Amino acid sequence: MSVRLFVDSPLKLKQEVILTENAHHYLVHVMRSVVGETVLLFNGKDGEWAGEIEKISKKEVQLRLVKNMRLQSEEKKSDVWLCFAPVKKDKMDFIIQKATELGVDVLQPVITRRTVVGHINANKMQLQAIEAAEQCERLSVPEIRQPVSLDLLLDKWEKGRTLYYLNERGEGKDFEKKKKVAYLVGPEGGFEPQEIEKIGLLKDACSVHLGRRILRAETACISVLAIHNHLCGWK
Ligand code: SAM
Repeated sequence: MSVRLFVDSPLKLKQEVILTENAHHYLVHVMRSVVGETVLLFNGKDGEWAGEIEKISKKEVQLRLVKNMRLQSEEKKSDVWLCFAPVKKDKMDFIIQKATELGVDVLQPVITRRTVVGHINANKMQLQAIEAAEQCERLSVPEIRQPVSLDLLLDKWEKGRTLYYLNERGEGKDFEKKKKVAYLVGPEGGFEPQEIEKIGLLKDACSVHLGRRILRAETACISVLAIHNHLCGWK
């Protein structure tokens, strides 16, 4: 199986691509790649391309694109965001990796009153999403947004995007297939009643639950995205 890497450069036939730093280290020292080998490249815009390694130096791997493997339009995606209160490191890594595999477009950390996690490194999260996208054969990488407070998230809510907020103690309406949707999962300690009240005032918000058992936040994130994919025919 060929190595698959996300790159930040345009991809088209015969294009030369130079890989440096982490990508160079991975190809040369981890995968022990040699001249003539094929590497698959994608950039989230131009589909997936096979590139042949032409030259390897101490700091660079030079490739030439030889074949388009998949068009960007072949990635059928639904427009879905996951808004979630940050949890501790291992669980956060798990959420980013699994949500990427499950096709989310945007990961939005949301600071609620009971959120206990302090510093959030969105750049590091973005690298984890890239790694997960490389592994799961996505053609796109989810956007990791900078953390926002729950109040700001609601105040600036995009008109017409349904916000399903997961409320283990609330009334559960049925999930419906929506064109533009976001799922909001609370922190380990849950939402405060005033927060639930405020979310419920948003015109596009809708309370849902995943049964009467209390799920860990990360379980709730993954479960709801699996339900979403089922509703959307696993696009
Ligand atoms: N501390 C809360 C309690 O005991 O009621 C539980 C919070 S739960 C660990 C974290 C988040 O996961 C919740 O805020 C909610 O968004 C989501 N969640 C957990 N179980 C759920 C369920 N059965 N239905 C809907 N959402 C759920």
